[in-house]
Amino acid sequence: MKVAFIGLGVMGYPMAGHVKAAGMDICVFNRTPEKAEKWCEEFGGIWANTPARAAEGCDIVLVCVGNDDDVRQVVLGKDGVLAGMKEGAILVDHTTASASLARELDEEARNLGKRFLDAPVSGGQAGAENGALTVMIGGDQSDYEAARPVIDVYSKFNKLLGPAGNGQLAKAANQICIAGVVEGLAEAINFAIKAGLNGEDLIETISKGAAGSWQMENRYQTMLNDEYEFGFAVDWMRKDLGIALEEAQRNGADMPLVKMVDDFYAEVQSKGGGRLDTSSLLTRYTRN
Ligand code: NAP
Repeated sequence: MKVAFIGLGVMGYPMAGHVKAAGMDICVFNRTPEKAEKWCEEFGGIWANTPARAAEGCDIVLVCVGNDDDVRQVVLGKDGVLAGMKEGAILVDHTTASASLARELDEEARNLGKRFLDAPVSGGQAGAENGALTVMIGGDQSDYEAARPVIDVYSKFNKLLGPAGNGQLAKAANQICIAGVVEGLAEAINFAIKAGLNGEDLIETISKGAAGSWQMENRYQTMLNDEYEFGFAVDWMRKDLGIALEEAQRNGADMPLVKMVDDFYAEVQSKGGGRLDTSSLLTRYTRN
């Protein structure tokens, strides 16, 4: 299997590392070439100076960049991966982007005799480093089956959820759940502080009951320490909630909670907290 990986960020860097460690032939591209050089020193693959060159001759091309515009920049045009990919090769986009972009790229790829899967991920930096991501996939069954041996190397669970775009719609639902859970956790911790409870004892106890969650287990300690540099950034969350809200406008879903939490994140951003992790919702209550 010959693979290309485009975008060696927090997520892409370790994901590409798992592909190499699984013994696959890999060529990487990163906009800032120093990161690609560093990756090659660490893992031993090769790097190319354009996405198109990285994709040449590959069976599978994996992309994990920032947003819709970034995906367009590395996929389309003369230096984009679609220009370099051979016929029949599969483009797998792991970026969290819109479902409409996924459908557009699916059509574009198909018109060129190439194939496309939208495959956003959940599980954060730790999930990427441990090869334990959850991957939500949209596209054709046969393309999913062909790409699965690669996706399996960095995921603990992956599933085809319907046609192109459905992976991104599932990721939007994932982010809707997280928004509510994190705000609930922030309010509970603030309540506990004000009530004079011991935060450690509280979480040790209630995490064993129905209130327990991934956010509670992985973020309560840093929240209690007033530290917010441990994961998914507010800027990224606002991008994702924007995608969910735009989709909801189209499908008529009412999302009062998402609108409220998105406003709260906007407030954190306006105070310079765009790169803080999403649990920084607590600062709205504790840092006055
Ligand atoms: P990141 O650390 O900021 O990395 C972004 C990567 O994309 C970098 O390699 C960057 O290149 C590249 N890139 C961005 N815009 C580009 C452009 N226009 N042209 C070429 N390359 C471009 O981001 P990340 O945390 O890995 O997240 C990547 C995606 O995964 C996002 O869609 C995010 O929402 C999603 N995600 C992230 C997490 C998380 O916990 N971080 C969890 C789940 C999903 P440079 O190195 O040159 O900047």
